[in-house]
Amino acid sequence: MGWPVEHSLSPRLHSYWLKQYGLDGSYEKLAVKPDDLLNELKTLKTKGFGGVNLTVPHKEAALGIVDYMDDLVKRVGAVNTIVVRPDGKLEGRNTDVYGFAENLRQGGYKSDQRAVAVLGAGGAARAIIVALQDMGVGKIHMINRTFEKAQELAQEFSTMEQSHFLPADEPAEEAIKHIHHVTPYKWGDKDALQNVSLLVNATSLGLKGQPPLEIDLGALPKDATVTDIVYAPLETELLKKAKARGHKTIDGLGMLLYQAQPAFEAFFGKKPEVTKELRAHIEASL
Ligand code: NDP
Repeated sequence: MGWPVEHSLSPRLHSYWLKQYGLDGSYEKLAVKPDDLLNELKTLKTKGFGGVNLTVPHKEAALGIVDYMDDLVKRVGAVNTIVVRPDGKLEGRNTDVYGFAENLRQGGYKSDQRAVAVLGAGGAARAIIVALQDMGVGKIHMINRTFEKAQELAQEFSTMEQSHFLPADEPAEEAIKHIHHVTPYKWGDKDALQNVSLLVNATSLGLKGQPPLEIDLGALPKDATVTDIVYAPLETELLKKAKARGHKTIDGLGMLLYQAQPAFEAFFGKKPEVTKELRAHIEASL
């Protein structure tokens, strides 16, 4: 379900797996206007649907509609997968977090003590922050055109830990340590790229039809990995530029493929494989 939904590659992806595993089922595109979301979700069971994936602009709105949601959904603040339970109740999940993390793992990225720089503070960035934190990344540099949004996310996703074992005469501020630190940076601030192990583009810049992402990579450490969640085109200008500077790069198509894996399993009861053949099948339609 999306508005618009015509561009979605998910039906192609799920239909490939349904055919591959000989499963009796289908995965349809549903163009749903924001005002119709509540009604469309509440009538899923009567229409014979076992679940649904949500795309723009429904991921946040669904939070207020689903009957159940897990902690991950609450942390991200977005639902991208809904499972319809036998009694018709709706269970909200978020598989974008897994999709992003698994794409990085398959691409060979390993986090270290250094920070990660994330460009963009929209819906996708929220799932990316949670994924990075769960991968053990302690410091995130959040860079966004609208600085206030970077500040908001930094506040929301920084978590602190109070030490209970400090001597009574220790100053109070010493007793608090950040376990997850998200620092907001202004768009174009080169300091944000210093001493990071990974740079993520989570803006829509570079997408077909959108302006290119113009960024000076000069401050980025030579051994840093660069990933883009934009996958159309597959090799974005950012990835081209990073490759030319000798950085390891990971494209964004994997995130789409891996987020679909747990969703397909939830809908159809079979954990599907992300193979080279599947990738080629989806690439052919980009
Ligand atoms: P949102 O609309 O929620 O966020 C867009 C972000 O891009 C904001 O941070 C916005 O900044 C920034 N941005 C937009 N235009 C410009 C510009 N001209 N200059 C600087 N920054 C800009 O979108 P999403 O977070 O949902 O998605 C972002 C991209 O990620 C999309 O292209 C989407 O297709 C892709 N995506 C890929 C996925 C995958 O599976 N690979 C999954 C989900 C998304 P500001 O706050 O200043 O407006």
